[in-house]
Amino acid sequence: MPTLVETVLFYAGFLGSIAPMEIPFDCTQCGRCCHDLRLTLSVEEARAWATNGHQVDLLAEGWAWTDYANEADPAIAWRKATTFSAMVGDVPFRINLRLVARYEGPCPHLLPDMRCGNYEARPRICRIYPLESRPFEAMTPEKRRCPPEAWGKGLPVLERNGEPAETEPRAILSQHRQTMVDDVPRKAQLAAALGFTEAALAGEGLATCEASPTTLLAALEIADQSRTAPRPNWSIVTNRETTRAMLADLDCPARLVATGYGFLSAFADER
Ligand code: SF4
Ligand code: SF4
Repeated sequence: MPTLVETVLFYAGFLGSIAPMEIPFDCTQCGRCCHDLRLTLSVEEARAWATNGHQVDLLAEGWAWTDYANEADPAIAWRKATTFSAMVGDVPFRINLRLVARYEGPCPHLLPDMRCGNYEARPRICRIYPLESRPFEAMTPEKRRCPPEAWGKGLPVLERNGEPAETEPRAILSQHRQTMVDDVPRKAQLAAALGFTEAALAGEGLATCEASPTTLLAALEIADQSRTAPRPNWSIVTNRETTRAMLADLDCPARLVATGYGFLSAFADER
């Protein structure tokens, strides 16, 4: 005779097995995801993008990092794996760098009929959209640009129980995440070659280095050949005076800036 708990677990498992969490989706080719974006690129994708004369920005954010950061927490371990260590004054930080293709209006590869003119060589992030590229973040259709009819009942299953339902997108997503880890040292070298050593506090915004495609390619060449560890001294940019003052109290070098060139803000400027 099963206990009450065994009976509940049996039926929970039974219901789970017949009712997986599924997100149906089918692309409508509306082209919204190919307009006004910053696409996260790997180093090699950034090189290809800049070689075609298109703009690639380098974005930086940082976390103060203590020895007692709980690396048993998978989200903290992921953050550590995708960042490198640096000092801001006497405070240890982890710096995250992102290479992004930036375009206002349509992507330079978008064709008039909303098809991709770079289909075979499009970045991984384009291949997996609208899946969530970051682990530990749920994919929420409301935050995607796809129209409501792209999520209708009866369409092919995009995600099942938080994982891509199909083998190919699952493999591309896995490669994308692995590249985010593998590229960390080269992005640090690239920042050093560009002389870019300012980051925003994570959650407050992103410091941006808007080098021309030619400058970026030249810096990538230097980064490829560099064998020395990059300079670990970074400083913080912020658009909030309270943050600047707090950092000054900790003897952390910090600069007050306005939202715009060089700084993407999550908050209104505060003086
Ligand atoms: S590369 Fe292609 S799929 Fe990616 S944003 Fe540009 S047009 Fe869209
Ligand atoms: S926004 Fe969504 S539905 Fe529209 S083209 Fe992009 S992936 Fe397809």
